[in-house]
Amino acid sequence: MRLHTVILFACTVLLAGTVFAQAPAERPQRCGYCARPAVEDSGGGEMLCAECLKTAVKDPAKAAEIMKDVREVLNKKFKLATKHKIDYEIGTRKELNLEADGEHLELGWFDPKEIRGKERYTIRILKGLPLDVFRMVAAHELAHDWMHETLPHLMDKPEIREGFAEFVAWSFSRDEGAKRAMEYTERRTDPVYGDGFRKVRAMMEKDKAETAADWKDVLLREFPLKQKNRKSKP
Ligand SMILES: [Zn+2]
Ligand SMILES: [Zn+2]
Repeated sequence: MRLHTVILFACTVLLAGTVFAQAPAERPQRCGYCARPAVEDSGGGEMLCAECLKTAVKDPAKAAEIMKDVREVLNKKFKLATKHKIDYEIGTRKELNLEADGEHLELGWFDPKEIRGKERYTIRILKGLPLDVFRMVAAHELAHDWMHETLPHLMDKPEIREGFAEFVAWSFSRDEGAKRAMEYTERRTDPVYGDGFRKVRAMMEKDKAETAADWKDVLLREFPLKQKNRKSKP
C-alpha cells in the first residue's frame, strides 16, 4: 500500500515535470497590427506597439465622432447611406460580446434590434484599435447597416454579407490611402471574410461598379429577390 503511494507520487512529479518542460518558451509579444514589439494593452484587451498606441481610439465620444465621420464619407464617396439614427459604442471583447475564435477575431458588430415595434441600430467596435483599423471596421459595420436596409435578403448569406462589408471597407481604405487597412482585408484567408471579399470584389470590378447604386444592381442581378419576399410598399 505504501509502495503504491510512493509510485503514485513519483508518477505525479514526473508528469508535472513533463508538462512544465513542454510549456512554450516565452516569446516577446508582437503588436496586433504591425510587426513591432507590443508594449501596452490598448484598453480593449489587445497588446499594441508604441506607434499604434499613439492613434488608439479609447474615448467613447471621440469614437462616436469618428464613426459619424466615416458614415458621411461613405455617403459622399459612394452614396452608401441610410438615414436612421445609429448608436455607437466601444468596449472590450467581453463587454461587446465579440467572438475571438482562433484566426477569426471580431473587431466590430452591427446590431439591429426591434424594441417595442421600433427598429434600433447600434454599431459596437473594439476599444483601442489604431485609427486606420478603427475607421475600416466602422466602414465594414456601416456596410452591414446599408445592406440590412437595402438588400435584407442577403443578410442570411454569410459569404456575401461579410464579403460585401469587407469590400466596402477595402474600397473606403483605398480611397483614404490607408494601405495597412487594405492589406488587412486582402490578407484574410478564411472562407467567409477572405473568400467572400475576393468573390464580391471580382463581381464589382468585372462590372466597374463603383457606387452603392451600382453595387446594388450587381448584387440584385446575382442574387435576385424572390417574388414572395417582396414587400408591397406604397
Ligand atoms: Zn503596431
Ligand atoms: Zn461583418
